[in-house]
Amino acid sequence: MLIFKAIAEAQSAFTRLRGEGRTIGLVPTMGALHEGHLSLVRAARAASDVVAVSIFVNPTQFGPNEDFSKYPRTFDEDCALLEREGVDMIFAPTVDEMYPPGASTFVVVEGVSDRLDGASRRGHFRGVTTVVSKLFHIVGPHKAFFGQKDAAQVAVLRKMVRDLNFPLQIVVCPIVREADGLALSSRNRYLSAEERAQALVLHRALGKVEELAAGGERSSTKLIEAARAVFTSEPSVRADYIAVVDPETLEDVPEVGNGTLVAVAAFVGTTRLIDNVVL
Ligand code: AMP
Repeated sequence: MLIFKAIAEAQSAFTRLRGEGRTIGLVPTMGALHEGHLSLVRAARAASDVVAVSIFVNPTQFGPNEDFSKYPRTFDEDCALLEREGVDMIFAPTVDEMYPPGASTFVVVEGVSDRLDGASRRGHFRGVTTVVSKLFHIVGPHKAFFGQKDAAQVAVLRKMVRDLNFPLQIVVCPIVREADGLALSSRNRYLSAEERAQALVLHRALGKVEELAAGGERSSTKLIEAARAVFTSEPSVRADYIAVVDPETLEDVPEVGNGTLVAVAAFVGTTRLIDNVVL
């Protein structure tokens, strides 16, 4: 397993591999890896000759009052996990390498970037689309693997790839959960034992919506009300959004149908968690 820190070296290694006709699968991450990340790595391993994982806590996708500086960084453990999964290349640049002084070019996907997490976290998706564009230029993957856990991110990145003609395929992998339903997240490390138990309310609220929709309820308003009622059972958790949307545009839909995305975000203590289900 090779570890690249410099863009120029990574770029020339990947150019050479592409020239040899090898297919490249890229898994972008911010590290602090868990089974959710590893599921993407396994999907990439099964579908590509060369698997590259990027580990970069991207400052441009964090707001000024968010957790950039305290975001968990576990590089050595991450490398050990990735080695075991048969990863070929890790790209782990420094912030200065990715954003040298004076860098002032950003990629913005208008519209969809302002919905769901983009509405609560202003500028978040501008940071995501900028860093992912850079990773695509550096690695030149044939396929890039993302988790359904970040459903809004998937919508934004799919649109970016379409609009900017990136010659690659986005592969979306299902949400990996703990046995009790909590979606795995690097941010779960922030939770106390008590908060960990409270955090299950996200999964419970989504379960209620699924149950009602399976029983024939079509009204988004009714489904959102039901989810909100579940959240009231856990008063220490503050819902940020509960949304019933088209998975591609992230626009609200009045009635649910096949493929409708139900997404929630909530603060458990100071930790912001997200989860979703596709009906
Ligand atoms: P992050 O390191 O949080 O930026 O996540 C890197 C990638 O892993 C993103 O594409 C996430 O959607 C994906 N991911 C994170 N958590 C999960 C999970 N529980 N199940 C599936 N994919 C996940």
